[in-house]
Amino acid sequence: MHTYEQALQSGKKFLLEHDDYLVVSHVQPDGDAVSSTVTVGWLLSCLGKTFTMINEGEIPGRMRFLWGADDIVNMTEQPPARKFKAVICVDCADFARVGLTRHYFEEDAVILNIDHHPTNNAYGTVNIIKSDAAATAEILFDLVSLFPVTLNKDAATAIYTGLLTDTGGFRYANTSPNVMTTASKLLEHGVDGPYLAQTLLEQVTLPQVRILNQALNSLQMTDDGKIAWVVVTPEDMITCGAANEDLEGIVNYPRNIQGVEVGIFFKIINDSAVKVSLRSAGKVDVAELAQTFGGGGHVLAAGCRLEGTLEDIVAKVLKQVNAQW
Ligand code: 5GP
Ligand code: MN
Repeated sequence: MHTYEQALQSGKKFLLEHDDYLVVSHVQPDGDAVSSTVTVGWLLSCLGKTFTMINEGEIPGRMRFLWGADDIVNMTEQPPARKFKAVICVDCADFARVGLTRHYFEEDAVILNIDHHPTNNAYGTVNIIKSDAAATAEILFDLVSLFPVTLNKDAATAIYTGLLTDTGGFRYANTSPNVMTTASKLLEHGVDGPYLAQTLLEQVTLPQVRILNQALNSLQMTDDGKIAWVVVTPEDMITCGAANEDLEGIVNYPRNIQGVEVGIFFKIINDSAVKVSLRSAGKVDVAELAQTFGGGGHVLAAGCRLEGTLEDIVAKVLKQVNAQW
């Protein structure tokens, strides 16, 4: 049986035995994705390895202060100029989550898959999956500690950022004793907790407030008050001058309404595709729900992408939520 410790040791070996690594995370990277990417980059630089960090999607503006964040290449086109034989995927529950960056993988590339999603299907050559970790960054803290390197403030700040954002500011159910212990150690490495909370969680941009206003105007609920949802259209995005990163947290509003069991955010991508974000108040396993639509995530927070018109997709998702009680 593979224990977590054994997986970490295999991950350590993977980092030592290759070079010229490609480090990727999921499309439209969030706090944990960016943090985990740069933490791996930082560790590789400590080990004297060369590496390239690539992502599909913009790095959220509020995370650009992180060490290495400006070096992450935003991959929007294919084919790439070159490919890599050793790849490290962080925070990606399945292979499809890497998006267009897959075009950078050699066909016979070896992959180190580091992730905390229970829906992860172990697509790597080496897999470090800890589904009770609050963030991929939490796993990276353990991985870094296997090497004779000293965590500096830059790396500690990145790991803390992953913990902070994936626990919603140390509030969600995934805020385990280990999260708090790890955060405490990171603070001892000089991390500025209040600054990160302000920059990453409190501060909002004007487009963010505008798009939230727009989303709240679209609020709908089922008659029994158990499912609530909001919709954002491409036109809303343009009118509000909003970027994808401005949508972070919107789904919590329908979910947080008293009596609501499942909050949903439908983001229309184009005429034929909708991104669906699902949040549960506790009774419904939305990871399972998202998986029935080809997506994934965590028990209380999951997502998927569906093809079709909004009307059809809303009907389909509501029906599936009702089937899940
Ligand atoms: P969000 O709704 O904030 O985009 O995502 C919530 C959670 O679900 C995150 O952990 C995210 O990684 C996961 N998730 C969101 N969309 C998808 C998807 O299309 N596929 C998979 N496998 N996971 C997703
Ligand atoms: Mn994560």
